[in-house]
Amino acid sequence: MRITLGTSFKVANIKYNVRWMTDVEEQVDAECLGSSEASKSLIKIRRGESRNTTEHVWFHELVHTVLSALGREELNSDEGFVDGLAGLFHQAMKSKRGNLYDERETGI
Ligand SMILES: [Zn+2]
Repeated sequence: MRITLGTSFKVANIKYNVRWMTDVEEQVDAECLGSSEASKSLIKIRRGESRNTTEHVWFHELVHTVLSALGREELNSDEGFVDGLAGLFHQAMKSKRGNLYDERETGI
């Protein structure tokens, strides 16, 4: 299976756009590596982090979109749960494929 962390993905038939941000460009502050805005079908991921961190953040934001699509807001607001699940998905995918994104698509 080819996983490419690109500029969009679909969850529950909703297309989410991925914006690769710098902290100067948007509200992604020093402590926030990513964000998910279900109402805008948008996730933001900060550029300039290590590959491993960037991939992890992508999975973290993906888990938020999945839990939102399932209507599981109580789980979606549990950052420890979200991050743990994201980490295990990341680990599973990485063990199969290695690098999960293409710099040519993301520009990172
Ligand atoms: Zn989160």
